Amino acid sequence: MPVSPVLPPTHDVIVIGAGAAGLMCAASAAARGRRVAVLDHNDQPGRKILISGGGRCNFTNRDVAPVHYLSANPHFTVSALKRFGPGDFLDLIRRHGIAWHERDHGRLFCDDSAALIVEMLLRECGAGGVEILTSCRIGTVGGDGPFRVETSRGTFRAPSLVVATGGLSLPKIGASGFAHVLARRHGLGVVATAPALVPLTFAGDDLVLMRTLAGISVEAEVSLGGARFREAVLFTHRGLSGPAILQISSYWRAGHPIVLDLLPGQDARTTLIGRKAARPNAQVETVVAEMLPARLAQCLTGRAGLLGKPIGQTPNAALAGLAGLLNGWRPVPAGSEGYRTAEATLGGVDTAGLSSKTMAAKAVSGLYFVGEAVDVTGWLGGYNFQWAWSSGWVAGQTA
Ligand SMILES: Cc1cc2nc3c(=O)[nH]c(=O)nc-3n(C[C@H](O)[C@H](O)[C@H](O)COP(=O)(O)OP(=O)(O)OC[C@H]3O[C@@H](n4cnc5c(N)ncnc54)[C@H](O)[C@@H]3O)c2cc1C
Repeated sequence: MPVSPVLPPTHDVIVIGAGAAGLMCAASAAARGRRVAVLDHNDQPGRKILISGGGRCNFTNRDVAPVHYLSANPHFTVSALKRFGPGDFLDLIRRHGIAWHERDHGRLFCDDSAALIVEMLLRECGAGGVEILTSCRIGTVGGDGPFRVETSRGTFRAPSLVVATGGLSLPKIGASGFAHVLARRHGLGVVATAPALVPLTFAGDDLVLMRTLAGISVEAEVSLGGARFREAVLFTHRGLSGPAILQISSYWRAGHPIVLDLLPGQDARTTLIGRKAARPNAQVETVVAEMLPARLAQCLTGRAGLLGKPIGQTPNAALAGLAGLLNGWRPVPAGSEGYRTAEATLGGVDTAGLSSKTMAAKAVSGLYFVGEAVDVTGWLGGYNFQWAWSSGWVAGQTA
């Protein structure tokens, strides 16, 4: 029987996925002199970067710590964030002359376009001779070091394979469950996935009310269990959106209410009872409209059954009921808008099977998972990109 020849590697490192983590990993490995190929089925690299942060890419945050990430292992991010943190990424963008600014909550954005971040990563890759193949459909992935990747653009062989194909959000721009399938095939666990950083949808009376208010935005504190975010909440035709809702969506589980404090830092009951004494002839909704947009004040007063009533003739118990809505409205979401609009994916490749220092699979030599493919999900605010840079960079230092 003829023995098929063992073909030599084409590269030292194959990276599947030319997104944030894959490009950073490729640049990091190439800077160490590794021959790197990056393969992606999209027709251009970094598509999510291009549309991120409203086109300005919220590329990191001033204050990045493991507490800003959801994962079955809350300590998993410690090492990578320490080895390549926000300061390292800022050094990189300064070297490339990219202007940036800071917004609320320490969020750092490009002054101009997110495209500058993609161009920077491509320049870093180019300097290290990285080959980037787009419109490259991945077929069979064989071997377990050396790996063999069959694609529509040829066969690639390398002792290291980095899977950087991201999570499931936004399938229309190339998201796929590739990393999860490959992880399972190599014996790694996958933590159940769900859309994260996503608008929440409602049904019944809540939806009727929210639709009436579509377009209104208020600063609120939204909480669930121990998680609490004070930012804008936006009423929509499907329910609720805005940064505070996106944040809490990552913690929400079906059937549970979220708690909305529409007057954070203000005790609505004390305020209402105080105004009752001062201006007994004012209608309840007029008083509430001094604290909230008029349409919202009217809807919530109506829900409390107090529309058109002079506040002076309204029992304190009824005002306390209204105050409960203002400081602690507890609507139960019917669901979320799903991966179609989610900015991130909860869950992913189980960190128990990965080294937190290198992102290498513990049981499969040469196999790495980085970025959003892994069970690490950041808060809104540049944390997800920072995870992509950190995990990609550390993998590139070893692969
Ligand atoms: C609308 C939007 C705005 C966002 N804004 C921000 C922001 O401002 N700040 C922030 O921190 N985070 C933001 N995020 C989240 C952030 O974009 C992701 O967390 C980050 O891109 C993850 O990087 P990644 O490299 O792991 O995956 P991705 O960037 O998703 O890259 C994965 C790559 O793999 C390729 N791929 C997937 N499947 C296959 C396959 N089967 N074969 C070949 N190639 C494949 C994809 O085409 C893609 O190029 C935003 C997300 C969205 C959807």
